[in-house]
Amino acid sequence: MHYFPIHYNEPLFRPPAEAYSVIFQITLGCSWNKCTFCEMYQSKKFRVRKTDEVFPEIETMADFNPGVKRIFLADGNAFVLSAEKLIPYLDKINQHFKGLQRISSYALPSDILAKSSEELIEIRNKGLKLLYIGIESGDNDVLKMIHKSETHESMTQGILKAQAAGFDTSIMILNGLGGKKYSRQHALNSAKIINAINPKFLSTLTLSFPHGSEHFKEKLNEDFQALSVKELFEELKIFIENIDTTNVIFRSNHVSNNINLNGTLSKDKEALLETLARAIAQTPEGIMPPDYGFL
Ligand code: SF4
Repeated sequence: MHYFPIHYNEPLFRPPAEAYSVIFQITLGCSWNKCTFCEMYQSKKFRVRKTDEVFPEIETMADFNPGVKRIFLADGNAFVLSAEKLIPYLDKINQHFKGLQRISSYALPSDILAKSSEELIEIRNKGLKLLYIGIESGDNDVLKMIHKSETHESMTQGILKAQAAGFDTSIMILNGLGGKKYSRQHALNSAKIINAINPKFLSTLTLSFPHGSEHFKEKLNEDFQALSVKELFEELKIFIENIDTTNVIFRSNHVSNNINLNGTLSKDKEALLETLARAIAQTPEGIMPPDYGFL
């Protein structure tokens, strides 16, 4: 039987790019846990794990594989921990893994804004270099509808503050999140925030319904009409058309996506738009994505 030294508190999520990273759960669940579209941590009550619980896992993993290169700190937004609580974990990790390239975690912009610039620099200098931030949309109507607890302005401010402290950021946008009503403004304002922050990595996922679209609609205060596959492509095209950045590594290759795109913005922008234009031309009207989906 395959042996692995850590027993995780399931469900456990990590970004696709962390597929080969060692994961330590320093928090369980999401401290916010109220976004209407998100079912990831509905089964978990948020809590911070004690160092007494996590340190033995770090020690055991270091014995098992001292050559670890990348570490991801879970769960939902491990970066919610204050600098005072986060730094002991980073020190412990650095003490045991000498060849580390980077540590990363999910973060909410409010988690960043809650820390001083000096604290952010200290955390960054201790190896936590990359923050994954699911901003979902740059549009305030959409953010309000999905109960995100952030605004275009708070997200811009938080991400710029992290980048000024030396963090790389990986930003996620959710294609289709505004439905038909907000599709265009979702695309335009999401492009606007990407232009303002110029992240290192950008990815788009597609809104999906793990428990069915009716379950999702019940949680909204307004009527929601999901986009067809063709409309999802059109929204994505408007988003990319309006991005004006340099050297942003773009991926749209999550299992929820109906088309696989990747490139560097703005170098590959025209090629990406041509691919999308072909997909739009070849996709019949009215075909809906599956009503089930991926978390
Ligand atoms: S989308 Fe992120 S912030 Fe919102 S509930 Fe899910 S894990 Fe928490």
